Amino acid sequence: MATHQLRLDPLTGRWVVVAEQRRWRPQALALSSERGPDDPSRPCPFCPGNEEETPPALETYGPNGSWRVRVVPNLYPAFNEHEPMVSTTHGPVFTSAPASGIHEVLVLSPDHEATWGTLELEQVHVVMAAIRDRIEAHAHTPAIRYSQVIVNQGREAGASMAHPHAQLLGISFVPRELADEQAGFARFVGGCLLCNTIVLEESIGERLVASTDYAVVIAPYWAAGPFELLVVPRHHSAHLHLAAQETLFAVGDAIRDGLARLRTRLGPVAYNVVFHSSPYRAFGQFHWHAHIVAKLSTRAGFEMGTGVPINVVAPEVAARVLAGEAPNQAAS
Ligand code: AMP
Ligand code: ZN
Ligand code: ZN
Repeated sequence: MATHQLRLDPLTGRWVVVAEQRRWRPQALALSSERGPDDPSRPCPFCPGNEEETPPALETYGPNGSWRVRVVPNLYPAFNEHEPMVSTTHGPVFTSAPASGIHEVLVLSPDHEATWGTLELEQVHVVMAAIRDRIEAHAHTPAIRYSQVIVNQGREAGASMAHPHAQLLGISFVPRELADEQAGFARFVGGCLLCNTIVLEESIGERLVASTDYAVVIAPYWAAGPFELLVVPRHHSAHLHLAAQETLFAVGDAIRDGLARLRTRLGPVAYNVVFHSSPYRAFGQFHWHAHIVAKLSTRAGFEMGTGVPINVVAPEVAARVLAGEAPNQAAS
């Protein structure tokens, strides 16, 4: 068997990645939420001075001799090599394809203790510029059809490394979540679904958490879990990497603001940030955005069995808790 394989679940039509090598990444199978992601017996490979512990950087940003943001290939990739998406059937039930693609780690700051919510604004802008540059590189790679940018912060959110980082995964197929969102945009009659959402949420006001000239943060009407947030740029663009610089930076700032609010109002919760941008070479309606999902609940049997989430904190309540004066970012 190839070390990285996609297998089709014929019950749901979803692809599953089987990547045995990833089992050997540090703390990959640590289960206890009590144990933080730091392992004191190993130096942090993402800290300045330990650059040899990672594969050579793909990009570094910052003054000569030091760096502010560093992008490296993931040492334990879930996807690698650049083969086109060719699926093979093995009889009537089993279907596989190579799990080819790009898996990169983007170190958000030289500071081991930082989080996106505590970064200086200037640093957030370097991070967003780095994300844009890498996505642009993925967009020009023929076998790559979609790139997923994620941040895992905290053990409960799946982080295996404590040092603040994001991951970029360029993959050879359009995943279900994206296909579902594409279908949502296509279903909506009357312009862009998210452009309309911004207008409505601003006029209603009760789910608006923060807004600037370039981006809004809302607790969406359809939030699937407590304190789930949606960050939407005002300017309509399908692709993150084609957004104007001021929009790009403003979305980074809005994410920082949302995370700082969560931290101030709820404490140091684990969270995921996931960016959604249109798949490459897709021409349907899309409006790029980011979801902030605080890890405050567990997917239990009903959610697993049905795919129907039960949210015990209404988004109107979450927005009331989070809105108001911006918290002191430096203290969060
Ligand atoms: P997370 O699991 O969200 O904490 O992301 C950390 C990622 O860093 C994982 O996907 C690991 O495979 C990857 N990783 C761990 N150690 C290294 C290393 N020394 N160099 C590059 N990537 C690493
Ligand atoms: Zn570190
Ligand atoms: Zn989305």
